[in-house]
Amino acid sequence: MRSLNVIKTPTGVQAPHPLVTLRGNESGLPSHDLPSVESLVASLRPEEPLHCIRPLAITAAARAFAAGFPGDVLYAVKCNPEPAVLRAVWAGGIRHFDCASIAEVELVRRLFPAAIIHFMHPVKARFAIREAWTKHNVRDFILDSEAELHKILEETGQAAAAPSVTAERPGLFVRFALPETGAAINLSQKFGAEPEMAAALLRAARPVAARLGLAFHVGSQCLAPAAWGEAIAMAGEIIRAAGVPVEVLDIGGGFPVAYPDMEPPPLSAFMAEITTAYEALRMPGLRLWAEPGRALVGGGASVVVQVQLRRGEMLYINDGVYGALSDAGALRFRFPTRLIPARPRPGAPDAPFGFFGPTCDSLDVMRGPFFLPADVAEGDWIEIGQLGAYGACLRTGFNGFDRATLAEVRDGPMMGTPGYGPERE
Ligand SMILES: *Cc1c(COP(=O)(O)O)cnc(C)c1O
Repeated sequence: MRSLNVIKTPTGVQAPHPLVTLRGNESGLPSHDLPSVESLVASLRPEEPLHCIRPLAITAAARAFAAGFPGDVLYAVKCNPEPAVLRAVWAGGIRHFDCASIAEVELVRRLFPAAIIHFMHPVKARFAIREAWTKHNVRDFILDSEAELHKILEETGQAAAAPSVTAERPGLFVRFALPETGAAINLSQKFGAEPEMAAALLRAARPVAARLGLAFHVGSQCLAPAAWGEAIAMAGEIIRAAGVPVEVLDIGGGFPVAYPDMEPPPLSAFMAEITTAYEALRMPGLRLWAEPGRALVGGGASVVVQVQLRRGEMLYINDGVYGALSDAGALRFRFPTRLIPARPRPGAPDAPFGFFGPTCDSLDVMRGPFFLPADVAEGDWIEIGQLGAYGACLRTGFNGFDRATLAEVRDGPMMGTPGYGPERE
């Protein structure tokens, strides 16, 4: 028998080093006896990045979102799949999870046997559909093409030609594309059917669907509540054009959090716009779902980095765009920063700084500007906040700078997040 030629991943090069957890709050219950960031830095004096998860802030944000949203809330796992984060989301009452890969499905199922998991990536591997359906009790799948509809039907055991009346049917969701919404990150260029196609897909899916849904995503970090109002009105037109009953309207994610140069309207403004637009549809049989990622976890993590060298207004730090600071690179997100000085000093006034990450790539630069006391020096620590969303989950092993420690802390978010403040729990 010939053995397969398996290529092994060289250790420590391609796969990011797992975050070493200092202390886990495995219970998932709100824990007020966690250390503060400051006390951790004082005791550890960390020379590699220290990721600080704020479970209380995440739980509070999840609760606030679920309390304000008139429907079911699915957490978008890709935004931050760290188990400590997922436990905090669960503690906030979230029971539905939007997964995009079989690995995310397995992770959520392992942590929460009772979770309701939805497979919301419009293009899936066949084996992933099959395993989600047969092994992990996933019942809802999204699509934006006829080819994907057939794939889902085949892999969930529905003979395409003559579906058996007894076979259990999947829930089917159709994603449609939106015109430009003004979000920081557009998510309709890659996915989503045009309106007529979406209506045709709803008609095609109806007879074979256990439940039928229509979905959209306005794009990530969308500051305009009106984007949801317009998209919901468009969804209403598509449902009317399809002429078949639809049970769920999934309004996606995209809800923003505050960053130093982005102050979003309060969460209540988004909820008011959504409620008004939904009521204008006059479709009482239609339930609302949302898939927030960033809004639940954006304020829920920071990274403490150390200054390795100062060159004028540029600081060489030990994390960068190949680590947890990806969005500070090409996307030029600015994050809140605070200095934790290595030696006590009288305070200096703030000045603007840029960062160089630790890799040898000249693209590993974050121009900010980030505001820090003008006397920041080698050996000082900088806490960089609002990194709960699309931070640690984008780390790579590039150049070997992927070792980091993870700790849960009791601090609030470094900036207020719509719907809840740092003090509210
Ligand atoms: C990324 C994504 C989300 C979450 O988006 P946020 O901007 O983090 O709220 C939700 N749904 C889908 C389908 C996504 O791709």
